Amino acid sequence: MSTQDSGDQPEAADSLSSVDELIEHNRQVADAVKTPGMAAAPSRHMAIVTCMDARLDPLAELGLDIGDAHVIRNAGGVVTDDVIRSLCISQQKMGTREIVVVHHTSCGMCGLDEAELSDHLKRRFGERPEWPIGAFADDTTGLRDAIAELEASPLIERDTAIFGFLYDIESGLLTDVALGETVAAATGGANTDSSAVT
Ligand SMILES: [Zn+2]
Repeated sequence: MSTQDSGDQPEAADSLSSVDELIEHNRQVADAVKTPGMAAAPSRHMAIVTCMDARLDPLAELGLDIGDAHVIRNAGGVVTDDVIRSLCISQQKMGTREIVVVHHTSCGMCGLDEAELSDHLKRRFGERPEWPIGAFADDTTGLRDAIAELEASPLIERDTAIFGFLYDIESGLLTDVALGETVAAATGGANTDSSAVT
């Protein structure tokens, strides 16, 4: 369990040393990341639904800070029952009234072959998934479907403002799919005017 000094460690991929690195890193940044006294309820009354893609930094894309919004992520940013569960808690217990759905270009869920994945799981585990895989044919369809699911849900507050954006992995820009306009130049995580997302 001992950690070698961080220096040049070619076998850093080893899982045990990786965990040690995480803990060591945490000790170094704890003072910078701690949020004592910060309210748990998002200060901007906002919940973001987005993809788990490792290239996305949802707060930076929208010019938000820690504490501003709930961030609910899964493969594709699909509105599943569990996303509705989190949004219900976000709205009923934490007072959020704005939902921002952010999908992105070159998403792994776009064009994913559901039958192939189901067959793969059956071969590997002897089971097919009981849940919808949630692939979508193209970026715009996926985003529109997600928003339609939110609007149709009887468990989402009627006065909720719902927005849908497509994030371009290459440019860092957000496009408002409903309007077909680029609305924020968020490249590099620079802060953007809050009006860009409201
Ligand atoms: Zn994705």
